[in-house]
Amino acid sequence: MLLDFRLQLRLPRIVFGAGTLEQVRAEVERLGARRALVLSTPGQAGLAARVAELLGDLAVGRFAEAAMHVPVEGAKAAAAQARSLGADIAVAIGGGSTTGLGKALALDPGLPAIAVPTTYAGSEMTTMWGLTEGGAKRTGRDPKVMPRTVIYDPTLSLGLPFATTVVSAVNAIAHAAEGLYAPDRNPVVDLLAEEGIRRSAAALPILQGDPRDLAARGEALLGACLCGAVMGAITVGLHHKLCHTLGGSFGLPHAELHTVMLPQALAYNAPAVPEAMARIAAALGVSTSAPAGLFDLAMRHGAATSLAAIGMNEADLDRAAELATQTPYPNPRPLERAAIRELLQRAFEGERPA
Ligand code: NAD
Repeated sequence: MLLDFRLQLRLPRIVFGAGTLEQVRAEVERLGARRALVLSTPGQAGLAARVAELLGDLAVGRFAEAAMHVPVEGAKAAAAQARSLGADIAVAIGGGSTTGLGKALALDPGLPAIAVPTTYAGSEMTTMWGLTEGGAKRTGRDPKVMPRTVIYDPTLSLGLPFATTVVSAVNAIAHAAEGLYAPDRNPVVDLLAEEGIRRSAAALPILQGDPRDLAARGEALLGACLCGAVMGAITVGLHHKLCHTLGGSFGLPHAELHTVMLPQALAYNAPAVPEAMARIAAALGVSTSAPAGLFDLAMRHGAATSLAAIGMNEADLDRAAELATQTPYPNPRPLERAAIRELLQRAFEGERPA
């Protein structure tokens, strides 16, 4: 086969290793910033306080109200605080919600950011931003929202509950899995995706035995980094679209949606992209099909496998199928409303893909 592809990898500076949070002050200085606003969710406020302490006189304030899907009110309040404090950088410590708030501040008032991820969402490696207003999420891509530096310190996720660990790692795997059949996939992204899936999946059984295994936390974090880089380089398809629709319109929990939907979305696409499925299965280290392998992975690690279990109302499945097929987007298998409706029924019941 003759190779022919376009690739634009945009990556932040990466500082990876146990204890690297200690270097946060040096990383702020490296960017020439003097006045840092530290961002977190309320739950991670203690960690944000530690960052402020490490920053010393370079920290001018803290905003600990980051929330899921970046509500525009929160982004505005953080922007107002950044302006009133004369902040010249944001340091976002936490999961995708906090990274997302950092991205909102990159858009307005235009602050550069350092991200310190404590989950496996992978948002820190993408130029994608999202803002929620009146229940509707706007998303876009802009190179300026990518953090300048990412500090990956696996000690910070030692306390991430195992249930959250599983859904978050599957969130990462979903980015890479869709990368392997994206219209703009290429051999470089394939490498990142396979390695990202491999490391994420291999870490889970170890963390199930001991959630405080530092080496496995590092593996899962590197997996998330690689999978995030894939998502940043490609166009996502059916799986992400379904999660976006179900999470946005029916209030289902974002993280759990990934463990329920990924096996079903892959089963839908499998006939169109057998080679991608073989690569995913190999990276997962399973002898079953990729969709069945992901279903089993969720089951084995105690994650949700049905929409019914995470609060979906069966009566809403027709509407969900309609919403998910309303606007066209690239996907290896054409989006047929009836087939998507069947997929949703299987997801609702938590049927293991054949
Ligand atoms: P999150 O950031 O909301 O974190 C979930 C919860 O876990 C929060 O309450 C948080 O305080 C807590 N938490 C975080 N780290 C912890 C730790 N180490 N120990 C204990 N608790 C911890 O959720 P998430 O799953 O990280 O991210 C999901 C969000 O990220 C969604 O809004 C999604 O749309 C977005 N996202 C964006 C991109 C992108 O490229 N823009 C990519 C992936 C996800």
